[in-house]
Amino acid sequence: MHEISLCLSTLELIEQQVRQHGARRVTAVWLEIGALSCIEEHALRFSFASASRNTVAEGCQLLLSYQPARAWCWDCSVSVFIEKHDAGCPECGGHTLRVESGDSLRLKQLEVE
Ligand SMILES: [Zn+2]
Repeated sequence: MHEISLCLSTLELIEQQVRQHGARRVTAVWLEIGALSCIEEHALRFSFASASRNTVAEGCQLLLSYQPARAWCWDCSVSVFIEKHDAGCPECGGHTLRVESGDSLRLKQLEVE
């Protein structure tokens, strides 16, 4: 389960931001899940809840959204959206794609007090 390590690194980022803003506590966190990240929503929520225990983010609201992955197709020289790792280019069906985004978990927004 890689969700727990992703949550830990996200929490590090959150704690940095909280210190920068001199906030006391995080009330809500918005995360963007990349379509190719293989992150399972239920596992992510569970991991986040346990990883954030005794941190500034304990008990905060977790808002998740999905982000389609973007890849560069070498055959048609365009940037395309893909949904899965083994998906071909939606334009030409080719597989010479370089994934540009959407394979990770991204911290989008924080609400603090
Ligand atoms: Zn293509």
